[in-house]
Amino acid sequence: MIKNKTWNQHVVKKENKSLVLETIRACSPISRAAIASKTGLNKGTVSSLVSDLLEEQLLYESGPGESSGGRRPVMLLFNQVAGHSIGIDLGVNYLLGVLTDLDGNICLEKRVKFSDLTYEEIEEQLYAIIDFLIDDAPPSPYGIIGIGVGVPGTVNKSGEILLAPNLGWKNVDLKSILEERYDLPVIIENEANAGAYGEKKFGVGRDYNQIVYVSVGIGIGVGLILNGELYKGNNGFSGELGHMTIDVGGTKCRCGNDGCWELYASEQALIRNSKEINPSLFHTQEPTLESLISHAEEGDSEAIGLFRQIGDYLGVGINNIIHAFNPEQVIIGNRMAYAQDWLTEPLQDRIQRKTLWFQQNDLEINFSQLSTHSSALGIAAFSVENFLLTI
Ligand SMILES: [Zn+2]
Repeated sequence: MIKNKTWNQHVVKKENKSLVLETIRACSPISRAAIASKTGLNKGTVSSLVSDLLEEQLLYESGPGESSGGRRPVMLLFNQVAGHSIGIDLGVNYLLGVLTDLDGNICLEKRVKFSDLTYEEIEEQLYAIIDFLIDDAPPSPYGIIGIGVGVPGTVNKSGEILLAPNLGWKNVDLKSILEERYDLPVIIENEANAGAYGEKKFGVGRDYNQIVYVSVGIGIGVGLILNGELYKGNNGFSGELGHMTIDVGGTKCRCGNDGCWELYASEQALIRNSKEINPSLFHTQEPTLESLISHAEEGDSEAIGLFRQIGDYLGVGINNIIHAFNPEQVIIGNRMAYAQDWLTEPLQDRIQRKTLWFQQNDLEINFSQLSTHSSALGIAAFSVENFLLTI
C-alpha cells in the first residue's frame, strides 16, 4: 500500500514537472504565477518544481517581467542550450548532418554528396559526420542527448531498417551499431516520417493538422500527420507511397513491383528522362538535379520540359493520395523542392483537372521552406522529445 502511494506520488510529480516544463517551453518567458494559472497547479507546487528544473539547468531566470501592480515577477526561460541533438538525413546520394539545440535551432551542419557507395563506405561517411558534430559541439550541461538518423527505407518499431531499395540495403540494424559505437540513445526512422514531423514542428506545416509530406529525392517517400500526430501504421510501415502503382505493367522497380510512382516523378526519373530525351544535350557531364536546374534557370526549354514532366507525374500520385486522406495540406519536400519554379504549374494543373472538386476545398499545396532540412530537423526533434521525457 505505502509503496503504491509513494509510486503514485512519484508519477504525479513527474507528470506535473513535464507539464511545467512544457508550459515554459511554449510560453517562455513566463512567471511562476502565470505557470500556476495556466496549469491549474498551486503556486507552492510550481515553485518547488521550478526549483528542481533550475537546479537541473533546464531553465534560467531573467530580469523582472510586466507587472499588473506591485513587485514585478522574475521571468523563467527554457534553457535550450542545456544539451544538443544530432539529426542525420541519410539519402541515397547524400548525407546531411545537423547539430541542433533543444529548440531545433541549427548550431552546426555538414553535408556530403556521393553516388553508388557500398554499405561500408556509407557507414564510414556517417561516422565521419557524427564524429565531426560531436567534436565541434559547444559544451553544455547534458552534452549530446541523442543521435537520430532518417533513412530512405522501411524501418520497424525496434529501429531495424528492413528494406531500403534505392540503397540496396536489407535488414540493417543501424540502431544497435550506432548505440554501441557512441553509447548514446539512437533513433532510426523513415526519412519521410522524420520530414513530416520536421515540417509540422518547424516548417510550413506548423498551422496544419492533416498533412501529407511528400519527400522527393532519388525515390519518393510519404510521411503522414493525421489529427496533428505522426501516423506510422500498425508496424511503422505506412507511407510507402513511392511504390504505389501508377502504370500497370510499367517500368520494373527495385522493390519488386513495376510501374511505381517514384520511377516517374523522382530525381531518378528526371535523370533517366534527360538521358533518354537527348543523350547529347548535357554530354559534358553526367546530368544531375543541380545541372538540370541551372539549365532551366538559363531558360533551356528541354530542361524546363523535363521538370514540367516531373511536376505532372507528381500530380498523378498526389491526386491518388488526396483521394485517400482528404488532407488540409500537401507539402513537397527534399531535393526536388529546389525545382519548385517549374513543378508548381503542371502539378497544380493536374490536381485542378483530375482531383474531385470537393477534395480541393480547403486544400493547400506547398513546397518545403526548410530547404532540404526537414528530415534532419525532424529526427533531431524526436531525440529531444525523448530526452525531455526522462527529466
Ligand atoms: Zn517500387
